[in-house]
Amino acid sequence: MVFAYCPQHADEQVDGVWANDEDGWSFTCDRSGHVLPGNYTWTKQLEPPAGVAYTGVVEELGLAVELPAALKRHTGVWVEYGVLEAAYAASRPADWERLVTMYGHRALGPSTYTASKFLARTLSNLARQGAVVLRMGPATGLWANNSTISWWSLPPEPEWDLRHSFDDSKLTFEYVPGQTAS
Ligand SMILES: [Zn+2]
Repeated sequence: MVFAYCPQHADEQVDGVWANDEDGWSFTCDRSGHVLPGNYTWTKQLEPPAGVAYTGVVEELGLAVELPAALKRHTGVWVEYGVLEAAYAASRPADWERLVTMYGHRALGPSTYTASKFLARTLSNLARQGAVVLRMGPATGLWANNSTISWWSLPPEPEWDLRHSFDDSKLTFEYVPGQTAS
């Protein structure tokens, strides 16, 4: 069993639930008294394998700015992880191609690390800083083999029934350079 302490309740131990390869473990604290009303959810990814560059890349690509900027394409709704990934790919195509070349992607076949793991980890860190908000929800379309997946929004949190899924977007993996399956 994996557990962690709530970042906003130092004495509240929460059990982790395995979400999927990209998001890793998810944790939800249902105690009252969070900075924003309601439950607080966070994720913890597996460490990148040895030799995989992480920190420098986040800074070099300005992801603390670019990922929230990509979410602005869908203001006022929760978007499924894949929708955000596609929005980032559309807004920063050269950077996205570089990440896919460096890390791989599920659309290109099995890979130890992927651009999606990298972005999900970065988003998780941004959520802890309050720049984005996170909930776990259903995975759809080409991500549906993950039973649950992260959903993202800019603060303040929209109502949970305001959601835009990968399926709603009618997206394929055409936004992944070099993809063969869609
Ligand atoms: Zn808490």
